[in-house]
Amino acid sequence: MTTRKPATILAGARPDADPGLHGVAPPLWASDTFRWATAEEKPAYDYGRTVNPNRDMLADVLAELEGAAGGAITGSGQSAALLALLLVPGDAHVVAPHDCYGGTYRLIRGLEEQGRLSATFVDMTDIDALGRALERETALVWIETPSNPLLRVTDIARVAGLATAAGALSIADNTLPTPLRQQPLALGCDLVFHSTTKAINGHGDLFGGALLAKSPALVEKLQWWANAAGLYAGARDAWETLRGARTLSLRLNQAEASAQRIAGWLEARPEIEVVNYPGLAGHPDHDLAARQQAGPGFMASFRVKGGNATASRFLTGLRLITLASSLGGHSTLICKPASMTHRGMPPEAQAEAGITPDLLRLSVGIEEADDLIADLERGFAAMGG
Ligand SMILES: *Cc1c(COP(=O)(O)O)cnc(C)c1O
Repeated sequence: MTTRKPATILAGARPDADPGLHGVAPPLWASDTFRWATAEEKPAYDYGRTVNPNRDMLADVLAELEGAAGGAITGSGQSAALLALLLVPGDAHVVAPHDCYGGTYRLIRGLEEQGRLSATFVDMTDIDALGRALERETALVWIETPSNPLLRVTDIARVAGLATAAGALSIADNTLPTPLRQQPLALGCDLVFHSTTKAINGHGDLFGGALLAKSPALVEKLQWWANAAGLYAGARDAWETLRGARTLSLRLNQAEASAQRIAGWLEARPEIEVVNYPGLAGHPDHDLAARQQAGPGFMASFRVKGGNATASRFLTGLRLITLASSLGGHSTLICKPASMTHRGMPPEAQAEAGITPDLLRLSVGIEEADDLIADLERGFAAMGG
């Protein structure tokens, strides 16, 4: 493994990958197929569904950042999630967090309803509940930390260790922290998952996913399935994602510094019921987050006093921050998970996961923090009363 620092890995040119002209920025290899010298000598790149140089360049960068042996670049986070679930046998038992990403919940539940797998959703911070879930023969344990939208922190080394002891593979959704803030494979996970739609591309203009594995055998298996099932990103999307990723370190530093400042500012406001941000000393998992993550990240969530209607009025006051359901991009977005990102989760499941109707989730972008704080002021002013 390399000792290069993440910012250097992300910014590094690959003129070697363009043997014709040695371009500093990589070319876009849009061709669906490649010439064979003879019918017997399979070239490294033959057919674009199976292999493509732009996908490989992105996979190499992400694998180096994550300490993975390799992986597959897919057309969305959801297709990477499906790819991960194709690695487990039919009928397998899967354990996932009760407050996981709404799309992950929908996919696992949907496959369960078709009888393709069985699933147990648990509070991953409750090690006893996880232990009970693992009493059934389990093939895969899904970790997502910090969780979305509540920013709860799961002890990756502990959960991955329990999964391994139970004979299960463990996977971590590392979309929120990014490889620059958290390294699940080094903490014992077998697989790491990304929606590159979010911070890695960071420009809010495409969809992408990545599934990376620690062991070469698992890489081979997931690449086999990606090819068999046609779960891959187009060359242009992979090329653009790498272009976006070049500045990940800079964007993350700026957004995270603003998020820390905004979370502290929100917490001190009299209109606030609670702020969830691992960088706050009062966060229940603050110490674990400080140990496990290289930084608290760009996401926070909060509840205002007065409930759902008041939270909706807060949103009407915002002019700079956009009401939209994504995260990790250049501009700051806010959403109401109960009716937006997590609406696919039944009300009972939302209640169990702690996703109250008045919860607001903030994905901090790279604007000036002063301007974001001024906008949040406008939200408070619109609450009335
Ligand atoms: C967005 C997201 C996904 C799904 O990714 P898509 O690219 O939208 O398909 C999965 N997990 C997390 C944490 C996400 O934020």
